[in-house]
Amino acid sequence: MSQWFSVSVPGRTNLLCAMCGNDVDLRSPSVDHDPSICPACKRDCVFFSWKSQMVQLVPEVAPPAMAALIRWAQRELQTFEFVELLVSLDALSKKLHDWLPRPG
Ligand SMILES: [Zn+2]
Repeated sequence: MSQWFSVSVPGRTNLLCAMCGNDVDLRSPSVDHDPSICPACKRDCVFFSWKSQMVQLVPEVAPPAMAALIRWAQRELQTFEFVELLVSLDALSKKLHDWLPRPG
């Protein structure tokens, strides 16, 4: 079953496409959030790097709200603003995660 995202192993520039599972080498980190396609299956997606990992998002199979957020970000945000959005979401996520009860 396909997923709406894929992430690389930390420090690597290649990841397995969320749609077709092919190995895609992005060659270098990038914060570009413009529309792109998987070179293997040609599905519409977004590739960018976050910290030490590459990320692929596939709007057509993402939850509708996430797909709308991706499309909105591509339309409305400059690259630095997209990075700002990621930094903000990451900070929120970290804080929420910190408050989760620990097992055991
Ligand atoms: Zn693919």
